[in-house]
Amino acid sequence: MTDFESPLRLILDGEALASNWQALNAHSGPAQAGAAVKADGYGLGAREVTARLRDAGCRDFFVAHWGEAAAIADIVPPAWISVLNGIQAADIPHIRALGAVPVLNTPEQVSIWHASGGGRCHVMFDSGINRLGIGPEQIHQCRLQDIDVDLMLSHLASADEDSAQNDAQLRLFHEHAAVSGAKRLSLANSAGIMLGADYHYDLTRPGLSLYGGIARGGMEAFIKPVARLSARLLQVRTLPAGAPIGYNATHICGNDTTVGTISIGYADGYLRAFSGKGPAHYGAAALPVLGRVSMDLVTIDISAVPGLREGDWVDVDYDLPTASALTGLSQYELLTNLGTRFKRIWR
Ligand SMILES: *Cc1c(COP(=O)(O)O)cnc(C)c1O
Repeated sequence: MTDFESPLRLILDGEALASNWQALNAHSGPAQAGAAVKADGYGLGAREVTARLRDAGCRDFFVAHWGEAAAIADIVPPAWISVLNGIQAADIPHIRALGAVPVLNTPEQVSIWHASGGGRCHVMFDSGINRLGIGPEQIHQCRLQDIDVDLMLSHLASADEDSAQNDAQLRLFHEHAAVSGAKRLSLANSAGIMLGADYHYDLTRPGLSLYGGIARGGMEAFIKPVARLSARLLQVRTLPAGAPIGYNATHICGNDTTVGTISIGYADGYLRAFSGKGPAHYGAAALPVLGRVSMDLVTIDISAVPGLREGDWVDVDYDLPTASALTGLSQYELLTNLGTRFKRIWR
């Protein structure tokens, strides 16, 4: 597979990634910014992302699964890696051997950790997302003083909105912050950083905005795009007026149209929501998507650039806020759906 040139490229800007972390770190005030690198670094490649953020100065990395921690444990010291989705007793020997830090999410997990010898850990307090974490009604029953809690964290449900829930979660977190005896506190994700100094505590945990996502208004001023998509033209043809294009003939050519077929599809994360909508570009010229996105292929109107031919590369528009508005997919989905067939090229 690696002997062949991929007809699909994800072009990644390492300087933009580092600059986004530095900007988010600066916007976190005296707090340190960590980094969420779960889901393979939001689809961009956890190993490459982690190495670059380490070099930029980041010291706290968050993944969801233990396998994700193992996958980057030769890139940063395991003690810098936190595993958000918790522990189960059967994994304890591997967890101890790896040395990454568990985020304990339930009273049961606190007991398991204590019974297996304790040691440095983090605790997730559920301040109102009601998804994962120890609830306010449970926290006092947990014997947190018996374990070595480095970080007490909580996660905001609505930080991307002006919602009263933000303030409610902040208050609940604040009221319970002392219970754990934690050395450090952490509440804000990317959007939470923009809610102001009260939300910063000791550590912030941006994910989306590291990778170019605009989690809240105002971030356009300092967040740079990181990923660009480029696909090769597999075929160029001129079709007559009236020709249908793609599955179910959802587009009918109004005029004679020069079309190109590019090697990207929903199997690559370019979902059917882009059908008839998502433009590609060649330089400044827009090349609209015609008809349905299929699994491996998309047909575009290349009439605007008469010189284009088979083998040429076009840019597939993937500006996160714009593509999100166009398709109704979240910026998170746009990133984490990106498939495995891209050649990832860091610049
Ligand atoms: C994914 C995640 C983050 C990062 O959130 P973004 O919105 O991507 O910045 C932070 N904390 C927790 C607990 C998460 O699950």
